Order: sequence, then C-alpha cells, then structure tokens
Amino acid sequence: MVQTLELNQKVAEFLKGTKKLFINGKWVESVSGKTFETKNPATGEVITTVYEAQEADIDRAVKAAREAFDIGPWSKLTASDRSRLIYKLADLMEENLEELAQLETLDNGKPINESKFFDVPTAIEHFRYYGGWSTKIVGQTIPVNGNFFTYTRHEPVGVVGQIIPWNFPLLMAAWKLGAALATGCTVVLKPAEQTPLSALYLAKLIQEAGFPDGVVNIVPGFGTTAGEPLVRHEMVNKVAFTGSTVVGKQIMRLASDSLKRVTLELGGKSPNIILPDADLTKAIPGSLMGIMFNQGQVCTAGSRLFVQKKAYDNVVADLVSYSKSIKQGPGLDSNTQMGPLVTEKQQNRVMSYIEKGQQEGAEMLTGGRNPFDSGYFVEPTIFSAVEDNMTIAREEIFGPVLVAMPFDDLDEVIKRANNTAYGLAAAVWTENVRNAHYVASKLQAGTVWVNSYNAVDAAAPFGGFKQSGIGREMGSYALDAYTEVKSVFVNM
Ligand code: NAD
Repeated sequence: MVQTLELNQKVAEFLKGTKKLFINGKWVESVSGKTFETKNPATGEVITTVYEAQEADIDRAVKAAREAFDIGPWSKLTASDRSRLIYKLADLMEENLEELAQLETLDNGKPINESKFFDVPTAIEHFRYYGGWSTKIVGQTIPVNGNFFTYTRHEPVGVVGQIIPWNFPLLMAAWKLGAALATGCTVVLKPAEQTPLSALYLAKLIQEAGFPDGVVNIVPGFGTTAGEPLVRHEMVNKVAFTGSTVVGKQIMRLASDSLKRVTLELGGKSPNIILPDADLTKAIPGSLMGIMFNQGQVCTAGSRLFVQKKAYDNVVADLVSYSKSIKQGPGLDSNTQMGPLVTEKQQNRVMSYIEKGQQEGAEMLTGGRNPFDSGYFVEPTIFSAVEDNMTIAREEIFGPVLVAMPFDDLDEVIKRANNTAYGLAAAVWTENVRNAHYVASKLQAGTVWVNSYNAVDAAAPFGGFKQSGIGREMGSYALDAYTEVKSVFVNM
C-alpha cells in the first residue's frame, strides 16, 4: 500500500538509531541493553527500535524524579517559573506540530489530519491550560473554634508514576503531565509499548524547554516489566493510569500495599441514544463519528446505539450507507478518513468480536473484514438484531464496531443504557430541552453529550463512574488529584 506523505527531515532524523530512554534529563540506554520494535500499522513494517525500560531503569528514573522533587531545583522554583516552562513547552510543540503529527500517525496509524488538527493541537492546548493554573493553586483560611489562625496549603503529592495507552499517545501524555507539572509534582511516564515515539519526541522538547533534570522521565517499556515496577516502587507517591479496566484493577491492588494515591481512567461501553425528537441530519453523522473516530479505539466510543423504534430502520440504513463512504487507507495519506487499527493483535481482537456477534445471532449489516491485503485495517462494521446480553453489546471492543438496538420509551432506554459495568460517557440526541436535561441527569456516566459526541476540553473534568475509573482528570478537578491538602493551625 502506498503512503503518500514524505516524512519530514526532522522526523526522518529522529527515527535514526535505537531510541533511548529519557532519564534525569539525559538520553540513556536500558540497563539490560534490551530493545523492542515499533511498527507502522498501515504496513506492518518496523519504524524503528526503542530501548526497553525494565525494573532497573524504572528505579533510576524514580530516583531521579525523587531527587528533583525532594532536593530541587524543581521544588525551589516558583509557581510562575513552572508556568513559564509549561508555556514554553507548548510553544515548542506548536513549532514542532508537523513532526509530532507525523510521528503520531506513523506509530498509531490514525489519519494525519486527525493528528494535525485534533491530537497535537489539543495536547498543546492542554499544556497551555495547566500552564495558567500553576499560579492559581490556593488554599483557604478557615474560621475555627479557639484562638487560631487556620489555613490550608495544597502541596504537590510528590513523585507520580504515569502509565498511558496507545490510542492517543501524545494527548494522553499531555493529559497526565499538564496537571502534574502545574502542581509541582515530578513524573516518571511510561508510554504504551505499541506507540512510544511521540512521547520520546515530547521528551526532546521538554529538554529543549529547559525543565530541570529529573522532573519528567520518559521510559517506554511493557506493562509487567516496566509498568508494574513503577506502580510498586516505594518512592512513588501516586499512580495515574489510563488503560483497560482489567489492568486498572491490578494496579489498584498493587498500589494498595503502600497506599499510593491512584487515579484510574479505564474502559467504557458507552450508550448513544437517538430520541424521536432528534434532528436526524445531525444525529446520524454525529453518531457514526461517535463510534468510528480514531478507528473506534476511543474509551468513550458510542458503541451501543439506541434508536427509537419508529425511526430505527431509516437511521440504521443511513448509518450503513454513510459508513460505506468512509475512505480507509494509510494514515499518512491526507485523503484517508479512517486508518488501520494499532496492531495486528488489536485487529485480531476486533475480528474475533465480529465473529462472536455473528455466532450469537446478531446481523452484520456492513463491514467485518480488512478491505486491503496488508495492514491492520478493519472496515466500519454495523450490527443489528442485537440483544442487550450479547457479548458485542456488553464488552468493550475498542474498534470500529457499532451495535444498534431499537427502544420503545424513555425510561426503558435509560435503564438499558445504564445496564453496564461501565460509566465513562453517554450521549443523547434530542431537540427537546426537558428530555435533554432529564436524560443527562439519569445516565450514569462521567461525561454526557447532548447533540454532540466526543467533545473534550482541557477545562472540563473527565473520568468514569462505576468500573470506568476513579478520580477526574482535566479542569480544576485534576489539581486535586495531584495535591495533598494540609491544615495549618497557628496558635494566636
Ligand atoms: P492496557 O490496560 O493493556 O495498557 C495500558 C497501559 O498499561 C500500557 O502502557 C501498558 O503497557 C500498561 N500495562 C499493562 N499491564 C500492566 C500492568 N500489569 N502493570 C502496569 N502497567 C501495565 O490498555 P490498552 O489496550 O493499551 O488501551 C486500551 C484501553 O484503555 C481500553 O480499555 C480503553 O477504554 C482504555 N482507555 C481509557 C481512557 C480513559 O480516559 N478512560 C482513555 C484511553 C484508553
């Protein structure tokens, strides 16, 4: 398959040689000397090799972060110094937008226009938002009984271990780093083994921005051999994890030994409801985007579509015909609207769900195969005749697979929408303001979209109800996740 975009000179240069780990402000080889390959999902070809962080490397990184936190200079910088550094990083990212976008598409497979106009700009915006917060983290003065002057201080929690997935590699790094740096924490960040490149390029910019050594350490590696040692490390105060619910539970168990603070952003099986009074000209393309965006590899993907019975056949027919018009191809082709899935393993996983759906009696209306001879592609796939208890209606597929189900009335659909272990996101399409607020109030989800899907903003909190996670990222809420509150009583 042809990739039409020529890689820019800086990206080609960056990819040369084995990529090193970023520890204590330096580029270093792994202690074991072990490396791993990262592949282009559009072709299956190796892009480059990366040193693989294991326990000894994690230990070096955590110790560097500890020293930067305990001794400084990070801990001695003022809030406005931190703010300036974060803004500087955002500016450098803007100057390197093309390079970051190309690396993201090369490593993850997503369309270059999404990398350029969504992933990278949103990541930059995120740093700018938290750059502004550094100087605005304030405590309270509290009237108490007795002759005391009492106030609270919001202090950084300390060294944070951050573990992120492969679906939005740069954006997930930004979500994690922004609030941690604004509050004055130091960080060891482990990118996903499938997509380490944009985080390593970000490390280069962190170095260029002038962050003191050890403040941010970036250590690509695998879950059990790098992620677990990071979670277990006694010098780590908090773990911030984004990934699957299964691994999130393991992390919580591991972190409980030393009662580390834990925030978890986990999986979902989000309901998307089209009410009879919806504007279908918006609801149909919006719902399709809600599941197919990023090849369906979105934690908030609107994977369960509920349509009121009377409109069901027409809505589903339109969805099928729109989905057939989506242009699939390599992410580096600027005409591509949908790229490959991230790895062969992910492609196989999605295909096995598609098979399971058919075995359990659901009707596949479109999709279900790789339209090309190579690469990890899966066509946009839509199922009808789906029962609530079928595997494809219950489990997170994390691919471009929509299950469509009819419903009769409002309270029935709310009950069915909430009948899941997850609670990350949900959407409702309606032109009736009362219905909009009523449904939004009843859905058990950390984010509810009305007449839109997948809108996110650095200023709005994000996280899950139920088994979709613990805690909130983004907005002012994330600052709480990275600070300890101290009460000081001064006897007057
Ligand atoms: P995953 O849980 O397999 O891996 C995520 C990260 O955890 C990777 O860096 C991996 O190396 C690491 N990891 C794996 N096992 C580990 C262990 N035992 N200890 C420590 N670290 C470990 O998830 P994935 O397949 O990479 O990502 C897809 C999942 O992430 C989906 O379930 C998706 O819904 C979820 N996700 C959630 C959000 C959110 O904000 N809620 C955002 C994106 C993705």
